[in-house]
Amino acid sequence: MARRKKIYEGKAKILYEGPEPGTIVQYFKDDATAFNAEKRDVIDGKGVLNNRLSEFFMVGLNSIGVPTHFLKRLNMREQLVRQCEIIPLEVIVRNFAAGTMAKRLGIEEGTALPRPIVEYCYKDDKLGDPLVTEEHIAAFGWASQQDMDDILSLALRVNDFMSGLMYGVGIKLVDFKIEIGRVFDGDYQRLIVADEISPDSCRLWDIETGRKLDKDVFRRDLGNLADAYTEVARRLGVMPQNATPMEKPKLIN
Ligand code: C5P
Repeated sequence: MARRKKIYEGKAKILYEGPEPGTIVQYFKDDATAFNAEKRDVIDGKGVLNNRLSEFFMVGLNSIGVPTHFLKRLNMREQLVRQCEIIPLEVIVRNFAAGTMAKRLGIEEGTALPRPIVEYCYKDDKLGDPLVTEEHIAAFGWASQQDMDDILSLALRVNDFMSGLMYGVGIKLVDFKIEIGRVFDGDYQRLIVADEISPDSCRLWDIETGRKLDKDVFRRDLGNLADAYTEVARRLGVMPQNATPMEKPKLIN
């Protein structure tokens, strides 16, 4: 049986060559890292939960006309996605102050922002993904002005969709990060939401209790990460109540 070609291994995912040109298999690992991989652990079941949750969010986005890379789930830990050229930016949208922005500006965590704030970080682990402005993005040619208009529009549409979805299950979407990919349809290029959307890349707080249901549980040693993600999946109806998220990977060809 032929082994698949590994294209890239990141902190939480592995990308393999897909079965057809223009496709990629995205494998979700159980590894959790924070603070640019200075803190790391293996959380049983995290990959399974993120695979399902990212699928759920991306399918929802596709269905309201926000294009994403998601094609189909293959198994518990793998999904087939469209190959795209990743724009080297982390696009962060914030509804409430938290994390690095709260620290940088001295704003109390949880303070509601007057409007969603979109920030851009340059994707470079060695540099610790530094915050950049649109001036840097234009000057270094990471994205064009048209791209930036499209990225802002995508980011705000994802924010509206995700905020509403979460509000419906008693969760506040504090902030999140997305990555954007470039695809070519004939002579035309389009931007699509890529990578993943999961509790690894969002801040999710219970509206009633303020309980954190995202990667801050790991970053700040607040308890069991898989329990928090399972709670998000359960509220959204993504995982059956009695599902075990522990199944080991099955390879596909
Ligand atoms: O750490 P910071 O406050 O800047 O993070 C903002 C949001 O972006 C958080 O939801 C965090 O989980 C996400 N993020 C991410 N990957 C990074 C940096 C931030 O998913 N490398």
